[in-house]
Amino acid sequence: MHIETDPKLDFKDVLIRPKRSTLNSRSAVDVTRTFRFVHTGHEWTGFPLIAANMDTVGTFSMAKAFAPFGAMVALHKHYPAERLVEFLKSDVAHNVFYSIGITTEDLDKLAFVRKQVPVTKICMDVANGYSEQFLQTVKRVRDENPDAVIMAGAIVTGEMAEALILAGADIVKVGIGSGSVCTTRDLTGVGYPQLSAVIECADAAHGLRGQVCSDGGCTVPGDIAKAFGAGADFVMLGGMLAGHDECEGRVRHEQRDGESVAVGMEFYGMSSDTAMNKYHGGVADYRAAEGKTVEVTYRGPVKATLQEITGGLRSSMTYIGATRLKEVPKRTTFVMVGAQRNTVFDR
Ligand code: 5GP
Repeated sequence: MHIETDPKLDFKDVLIRPKRSTLNSRSAVDVTRTFRFVHTGHEWTGFPLIAANMDTVGTFSMAKAFAPFGAMVALHKHYPAERLVEFLKSDVAHNVFYSIGITTEDLDKLAFVRKQVPVTKICMDVANGYSEQFLQTVKRVRDENPDAVIMAGAIVTGEMAEALILAGADIVKVGIGSGSVCTTRDLTGVGYPQLSAVIECADAAHGLRGQVCSDGGCTVPGDIAKAFGAGADFVMLGGMLAGHDECEGRVRHEQRDGESVAVGMEFYGMSSDTAMNKYHGGVADYRAAEGKTVEVTYRGPVKATLQEITGGLRSSMTYIGATRLKEVPKRTTFVMVGAQRNTVFDR
């Protein structure tokens, strides 16, 4: 047994220290980034936010709403192949990831889709990115898709970030147990504080010219700024995007003044009972659900939430004097804190 004693941090453990600067307008900051990917040489420019490949938020409608912001969507893997083919022919397809696990079914479906339409970005997502089988599958998918940008995870440590990039991933997806509807930490005791995971994985990945996507754990726009400050190149969101018109999920209505109004929407983890009943006919005997089901407040179109996120990020960049998103880590000093804010009116 071994104990690591240096502190590991989560978003809630830090705040970003303001820095003196000449920047005085939020509109003067640029929240887009341009990346060249290590294995493909392709270039991408946009707002590096990604909707998670959960069947509630990683939807076609989300991709359409994200397109004007230059943000991306990792489509969930449960769309039928024909619908994916049709969607990948549309003009928003350049900002979507095609998601797969490592089952034969997933790989066969990708091969089928790829015969009909180019698949330019692939999100290889497994709960535990530490298995040898995952690494081998990343190598195989890289060999079979030399021109596709590959994002792979989930992992939380530098040595695994390096291994995945060397195996063929352009972007590593960082975060285990940090998700809003994830119960992995309760069930297994496994996880890693998200901010430290991003700092350590970014350090390792950048050394190999790879990129890092911080996945899970963002609860407010400020957490997104912290993830970028920690060195994340992309930030993936699930819960913060739940409850919108663009989501696929059961909506609960209430009668108010004789009218039926939407008040809540179902949101669940992709390994929850809800998802497993929906797609696999139940939870297999040998495993337990590692996700939960919640109801979030119905929030209308996602555009307003995206504006709040970009507005928060722009303001954050103004506080630290970063004109471009790329400069954010260099201009970030985190201070460790005991509390995030004044909670007097929370009750
Ligand atoms: P959030 O932004 O909601 O905090 O986190 C979203 C991330 O949670 C997803 O991108 C995915 O990595 C993770 N996630 C989604 N569903 C589940 C689940 O059922 N179990 C676990 N362990 N993680 C999940």
